[in-house]
Parts: sequence; C-alpha cells; structure tokens
Amino acid sequence: ARKAALTAATGPGATSDGHKVPLLANVGGPGDVPAAVEAGAEGVGLFRTEFLFLDDSKQAPSEEKQIAAYRAVLEAFPEGRVVVRVLDAGADKPLDFLTPADEPNPALGVRGLRSLLDHPDVLRTQLTALSKAAEGLPVYLEVMAPMVADRADAKAFADACREAGLNAKFGAMVEIPSAALRARSVLQEVEFLSLGTNDLAQYTFAADRQVGAVSRLQDPWQPALLDLVALSAEAAKAEGKSCGVCGEAASDPLLACVLTGLGVTSLSMGAASIPYVRATLAKYTLAQCERAASAARAADSAEEARRAAQAVLSGE
Ligand code: PEP
Ligand code: MG
Repeated sequence: ARKAALTAATGPGATSDGHKVPLLANVGGPGDVPAAVEAGAEGVGLFRTEFLFLDDSKQAPSEEKQIAAYRAVLEAFPEGRVVVRVLDAGADKPLDFLTPADEPNPALGVRGLRSLLDHPDVLRTQLTALSKAAEGLPVYLEVMAPMVADRADAKAFADACREAGLNAKFGAMVEIPSAALRARSVLQEVEFLSLGTNDLAQYTFAADRQVGAVSRLQDPWQPALLDLVALSAEAAKAEGKSCGVCGEAASDPLLACVLTGLGVTSLSMGAASIPYVRATLAKYTLAQCERAASAARAADSAEEARRAAQAVLSGE
C-alpha cells in the first residue's frame, strides 16, 4: 500500500515550499525508457552509452546504429531534458580497441574522456550521431564527458562538440576530486556539471568501487564527499550554471534532501527510486534541507552524518 501511494504521487520534483529539483532517470539504453516514463521522470540525467559498444570490443558501432539507439531515447522525452554521456570505456568497462592492455592500475589509466581524446575518430562519430539523432526533435539535448580532470579536459571536450556542429549544451562530469576542487575553472569551458558520486567516492577515498572490503569508504554520506559536492554546487551557482548529481547518492531519499540543501540543481537515479525521492523531498522545505546539509557536513563519519541529517529533518 505504501508503495502504491508513493507511486501515485506524480509531478515535478520539488521541496514542500516549491523549490524545484528536477528528478531525472539514469538509463542504459532504450530498454530502460518505459520504466523511466512510468516513474514520471522529467527526463534523463544520465544516458550511459556504453551498452552500444559492449557487443563488439573490436570496433565502434556504425554511425547509423548509434543514431537509431540515441533517437529511441530522445524521442521518449519530448520537451524534456536528455543528458547523454559519451562513451566511458576503460577500468571496469574495457574495450579492446580503446583500452591499453598493460595498465597496472586501469582505474587510474586511460579511461573515459582520456580514451576518447586518444581516439578522436570515435568521439567524432559519437557526437555526429547524437547531432543527427536530435535533428527535428524538440528535446533539450545535453552532452557530457566522463572523467574530466581539469579545465584542459573540459576545453578539449567542448572543442570536439563544437567541431562536430552539435547543437546541445556541453557539460563535464565531476568524478575526480581535482574537478570539484577547481570547479569554477572547469566551468569556464562547459555549461553544466554532473556529479558522478560513485567514481568521485572511489577517487576521493582511494577505495576501488569493485572491492567489497573497502565499501565503508564508498559510502556517499562520507562528509568529505559532501564537501566536494558543496564545492561543485557553489561554483556552479557562482557561474550561474547547473550542477546535478547522477551517481547512486541521488537515489537515497534522505541524502537527496541533503544534496538539495548543498545546492545541487537536479537529481538523476534509477527509475525505481524516483517515487521515493519525490515523496521525501516534498515533505521538507529548502531551508530544512539546508540545515540537514550543514549538520551532515559537520559530522565526522558517514553514520554520524546520516543520523545528524535525519535528526534535523525529523525535528528532533
Ligand atoms: C558515477 O561514477 O557516479 C557515475 C554516475 O558513472 P558510472 O557509475 O557509470 O561510472
Ligand atoms: Mg563514473
């Protein structure tokens, strides 16, 4: 019954006093779109395009194949936002034609945007396919790069987008602490930020996201991670730009309130979490979310941060 009540609650994401926080879906391909629409997603905040490339690790899919897949997702959100992430290969998602075979630490090697800058033809084909897929559709296309470390990375990506004639907003994912620490500098080159909290936690705590033994350090409630979220959101605000979250952190309803309080402007998550996040956010004012965020940042551990935020929001 509780689930039914939550699922019935629809409409745009907002705090109880009307501060809007668009709730977007993370999708891995056209197959995830029906669930996103059903959950009332206001668009897609992270379209992971890797799925297209994993069938054949010897070569990139043709431009035609890419256009068809991108169009199937873009068409599902008329007038909505769709944020497409260009190929994030390497580390846990190696591709023979892109990923060096002999890296001692693949997570710290040539992955994400780094692979694409080494293979400009692959990036160009992807951007051209996106541009053609969006032609004639009323969708607000945004395209972002994974694993941006600094302003030079952001500029290289924005240049590639411009060269491909892409009519879209260009953004940078914040997944590396250097990008959060110098977010204002990164924002000189791109129009939005999107925090990938899974990798940001991995690189902040030097804790491999695939190693269960260090999962304590992967907890997105870690105050150090919240500090980096705050730095990014404050930089975006100062530049008049947006800063979303598309990592797992956004799917925890209580943490979603804290992220809102830290100044994050949209939340993207697996479709199944959207009704719960929408319902929780609607219970609190922006000022309450801000107080919960301050309490969480003042904590010394993830558990303490969670408890402190909970105490503020339940009025203890
Ligand atoms: C992240 O790192 O938080 C993210 C959203 O990207 P992925 O999980 O695909 O690496
Ligand atoms: Mg990532």
